[in-house]
Amino acid sequence: MTRLKTGSRPGSIIVISAPSGAGKTTLVTGLLRSLPGLRFSVSHTTRRPRSGEREGREYFFVSRRLFEGMVKRGDFVEWAEVHGHLYGTSWKALRQAQADGHDVLLDIDVQGHRLVRRRLPEAVSIFVLPPSFQELERRLRRRHLDGPGEIERRLADARQEVLHWKEYDFLIVNDALTSAGRALRSVVIAARCRRLAQQDRAREIANGFGG
Ligand code: ADP
Ligand code: 5GP
Repeated sequence: MTRLKTGSRPGSIIVISAPSGAGKTTLVTGLLRSLPGLRFSVSHTTRRPRSGEREGREYFFVSRRLFEGMVKRGDFVEWAEVHGHLYGTSWKALRQAQADGHDVLLDIDVQGHRLVRRRLPEAVSIFVLPPSFQELERRLRRRHLDGPGEIERRLADARQEVLHWKEYDFLIVNDALTSAGRALRSVVIAARCRRLAQQDRAREIANGFGG
């Protein structure tokens, strides 16, 4: 049974961050496949699409000019410059993902997480760590998605990003993929059991007791 809550409060917001190459996309793809009632919030970015990426699926790919216009209009819940490109979560994408009571996953960087925390304090956050710096480097190189310059940049950024692990509610070390995936799934299921996420339902049940 899915747990859609049509007509009731919006779903939970789950933020996931990690240094590039830690395995976040792999984990998130597996999670979205295995857990009903969860949607991905599609961000806007000024980065070019990678091969295999599709407009409106991984990102909305836009020019810097268009992105900056959206910033001026207040269209973003949060936005940040990451690895030299602009990335942002629009209110529209967030609300669309939350429609029909779905929980929503925001794959955003550490700066974006700080802003979401301030604006949406009810959000649950998860930081994914690689088992080591050396393994992160190996994964980035083996992925064959970015050129050597881009990989160096991402590794340099990773040294700063990992310092932020203390700001997150949950930490997952992506060593063996299967157990990291299981841990991620468990965190999302636990987030769904929080009192805040269950209170409408609990009230309804308690009222039925007639006490
Ligand atoms: P991110 O989205 O964090 O940048 P990806 O999901 O693209 O990272 O993963 C980076 C690379 O590491 C990919 O080639 C992926 O297949 C691989 N990978 C992901 N998780 C693991 C793991 N637990 N063990 C070994 N390789 C992994
Ligand atoms: P990539 O270019 O590898 O897809 O993503 C690079 C980084 O940008 C990742 O750390 C990812 O989490 C982050 N990112 C993606 N979308 C957003 C967003 O909307 N806002 C912020 N702040 N970061 C984002």
